[in-house]
Amino acid sequence: MTTGSPEGPSPQWKDIHQSVLSSLDALNSATTWISTAATAGIEPIFERVLQQICEPRGVTPEAYIDVITRDAGMRRDVQKRLSRMMENPKLQALRRDAQRREAEHQLHVLHYILTAQPPPEWVWSAIDEEQREQLQDAAESGEERNDVLLPRVRAALNKLGTNPSAYGRCEDCQGAIPLERLQLVPWAECCAACQRKREGVPDDAPEPEVRVTHF
Ligand SMILES: [Zn+2]
Repeated sequence: MTTGSPEGPSPQWKDIHQSVLSSLDALNSATTWISTAATAGIEPIFERVLQQICEPRGVTPEAYIDVITRDAGMRRDVQKRLSRMMENPKLQALRRDAQRREAEHQLHVLHYILTAQPPPEWVWSAIDEEQREQLQDAAESGEERNDVLLPRVRAALNKLGTNPSAYGRCEDCQGAIPLERLQLVPWAECCAACQRKREGVPDDAPEPEVRVTHF
């Protein structure tokens, strides 16, 4: 099948496109895909839809992507549906839970390095042998002791334990702290802008980084 003429995609591609859109609409009103999307993202779900539609018609998902990449309207149709799926409230809730568990794990590891107090079993058992040894060395050396960081790590763990929904929300402006920031600074109390205000740093200055080697 040709990918279309200068006037636009061929009728066959338009037909495939309609099938893709209907499948995405059907998924959007179902819930079966949500747990997969929460752990693996939306891409594998979209890929499976494309395979199921493209293969029986003798075309490849890549060729379809090529076609819609060159057609702004078709691309928009797909993007609109994928964004709607991403915004699914159940998916958002599951993703937030997964992010909190990940942050809690990181914070326990960090707490261990900072104090040499063993982390909970669920954290320890998720770490491979080689990394455990590295962490053990770091914890026992005491080189990572950090009196500024430790209270912040403890406060974040405490928040996760007692009021998990407050974790990841800025203490000053109540806005959501961006995920990228939480991944780098899981003990963050504030969004970057409020943190700068707390520290009296001008808006355009980078936030002072707390360096942790084994993290
Ligand atoms: Zn803030």
